[in-house]
Formats: sequence, structure tokens, C-alpha cells
Amino acid sequence: MNKLLIKNKMKNVFLLICLVFALNIYAQNPAFKGQGTVNQVSTVSKPVQKQWKGVFSFEDDTIYFSNNFEGGRLNGIVKDNDSTFTVLITSENTPINTSPWYAFKIWSKQKKQIIVNLTYGEGNKNRYYPKLSNDGLNWTAIDSTNYIEFEKGDKNFDPKSLPTKVQMKLNVNQDTLWVSAQELQTSKHIKKWSEDLSKKPFISNRQIGKSKEGRPLTALTIGEENTKRMLIVISRQHPPEVTGYLAMKAFVETISSDLKIAKEFRKKFTTYVVPLMNPDGVDNGFWRHNVGGIDLNRDWTSFNQPETLAVSEFIKERERKTNGKFYFGIDFHSTYDDIYYTIADTYKGNMSGLVPEWLAHVKKEIPGYNPNISPSDKMEPAIISRNYFYVSHGMEALVYEIGDNTDRDFIILKGKTSAIELMKLMLSKL
Ligand SMILES: [Zn+2]
Repeated sequence: MNKLLIKNKMKNVFLLICLVFALNIYAQNPAFKGQGTVNQVSTVSKPVQKQWKGVFSFEDDTIYFSNNFEGGRLNGIVKDNDSTFTVLITSENTPINTSPWYAFKIWSKQKKQIIVNLTYGEGNKNRYYPKLSNDGLNWTAIDSTNYIEFEKGDKNFDPKSLPTKVQMKLNVNQDTLWVSAQELQTSKHIKKWSEDLSKKPFISNRQIGKSKEGRPLTALTIGEENTKRMLIVISRQHPPEVTGYLAMKAFVETISSDLKIAKEFRKKFTTYVVPLMNPDGVDNGFWRHNVGGIDLNRDWTSFNQPETLAVSEFIKERERKTNGKFYFGIDFHSTYDDIYYTIADTYKGNMSGLVPEWLAHVKKEIPGYNPNISPSDKMEPAIISRNYFYVSHGMEALVYEIGDNTDRDFIILKGKTSAIELMKLMLSKL
């Protein structure tokens, strides 16, 4: 009895120490400050290196790797010994930011445990924690006991926080094992999501243009076609930024939901959604750019690329047709940690004060959650979508960034809460 009591007490003390330790670490971890000023660069197309696609096999013919699917990226493999393989992942062109995308399938004639090293060549690092899947649809993060990082940086965020090489222990057999940097959400998956959503009577899906490789660029219309009050939602300018896409999905599904607030909102506002800005980049497994070799989120002044041009023409066409206004524009991305890139409050748009008020409401609704807010006081030249939304259309706008590793259930909660609070606030301002 006594022994049990002591044991329980010790357990409580232990838990308390853990809690203090965790809070202490949290306090020492400063919030992600985000990136600095974005500089204007040429967005005239330049060459990209597409990868050889197919099945990689070896002399003994027992283990196979494949990148032959949309969203796959694997640029070369060396078999180091009977059970160890070193994979090389390279970017579509350079210079490029550190977001190496990898995705491949593996299968084996015999049940076997193998070791796979992921390498990126000079100057690049591993950014994404590997996800595994048996069907390409349901993903789980690799068990940490089967994962080793080498030469990891000592910073909390940015490339200095990343390892140069990682090693995975994988159990393979005749069934396909999928390995990917993030959950695969390619044009096929996004098309299905859009089509499913547009079965609702108040949602339609239209083509607004074509990517450089001819893939359709589509926009959902949520609400009535010719309402004068409009919003624009975009995502996936940058192919690997799947967590931003997941937040966008939850956000848009909430605006499309049966909630009372959503029904009221749709009577007054129409929301346009371009869920996949860069289908070519996504399906080719690019790290950052479109097939024109350009970061689309640097092309909102020059519009040299068909993807950005189509969206800007679509916004202008909606304004002309409805004789209305866009009040809000949001661009979903992913980075090292959750952050909001907003516009300094000296700039007054079509619904002045909306974004800071809204973010304060979201913060209140999710107690203890306090991501950084980084307002920009330089709007011109526009360069990026947020600035274009404000400068050319007076929208209250922001870049909504989700951390690469933010908990997936939390992303959904945050997307949903963000949508509810936005709808409430926009309705209250009418
Ligand atoms: Zn991005």
C-alpha cells in the first residue's frame, strides 16, 4: 500500500517536472519571425530540368523504386550494398529555396528491411519529415526509431535548423510502399476535392485558364454568381506547401458548410477559390517553381506566367461583370512555423481594419495559440499576391502560413475557426 502511494507520488512529481521542463523549452523557443523583404526578380521563363520517370531496378532484380506518378520526385539511386540505397533528389533549377521535394514508391520480391539515405547535393538539406503510405492516400509520419538525421543545424527555424542528410529504415515487401516529403495532394486529388464540393447547389467549378503545360486552372464559386461583395482564396503557388493547402481546404469547407453563419455569409458574399495555382509544379514534383522555372509568387507585377495572369484576369473580369468589389484576399502557404504575413494598418482597403481584428478573434478562440503576425509596410512593386490583391483591388489581404510540421488535426481546427471568425466579422461590418 505504502509502496504504491510512494510510487504514485513519484509519478506526480515526475509529471510536474516534465511539464515545467516542457513549458521552459516552449518559453525558450522564440516564435518564428518569418522571412525578410521580398525583392523583385525577373519572372521571364527560364529552363527547368525535368526528371527521368520510370522504375529503377538493380542487377539482382529484387527491389524496385519508382517515381512514375504525379507528384513523384527521385533523380537517382545508388545501391550501396545488399540492403542500403542512397537516393539523390535535385531541384528543377537554381537558385531555389530549401524545400526539396521527394516522393517515390518501393516494392520488393521478398519481405525485407532496407535502409534508404536521402541526399540533396551541395548546398541543400532535408526539410520534410518522411511520410509513409500503403495506398498513396492515407499517410503516417515515419516512426522516429526508424529515422536518423545527420549534421542537423542548431537553429529553431529556417535552413539552419535542417539536417544535410537523413536515413530511413523501411520494411518493404511485394506491396507498394509510398514514401513522400508531405502527403501527396496532386492535381488529381485536388480535382476530386473540387468536384465533390461543387456537387452542392450553391457551388460551381469553372476553368479560368491553363498552366504552361496545359493543365486546367480552375476556380470554385461559393455563393451566388453575381454578388457585388467578393473574396478570393488561393493556394499551392509553391508545390510542396501541402499544410497550407490543408488549412485552405478546412477554411473553404467551412464557408461551404451548413453552419448558420455560413448560410448567412453566402447570401451576402461570394467566395472564389483557386485551390491549385501551380498544377505543373505539383505534378512534376518541383520544389518551388512552375514549368516556366519561376516562383509564381514573384510574378504579381509582371504577369509573365500563365498561372498568375489567369487569376488576375479572372479577378478583373469578376469586378467588371458584377460591378462589385473584392473585400478580402488570402493566399495559403507553408513554412517553418505558423505565421501571418499581413499588411501594415496604415494601408486602408475596402474593409479597413478587417485582418488585425479577425486575427485577434481567432487568437481568442484558440487559447494559448499565438503565432507571429508580421505586417509589411511595403506594398509596391506588388511582386507577391497579397500586395497585388491590395494595390490593384483594395482587398484586405494576407499570406496565411502553416508550419510544415503543424499537427494535421490542429490545421483543420485552425482553418475552420479562421473561417467562422472571418464570416462573423465581415457580416458585422456590413
Ligand atoms: Zn510559399
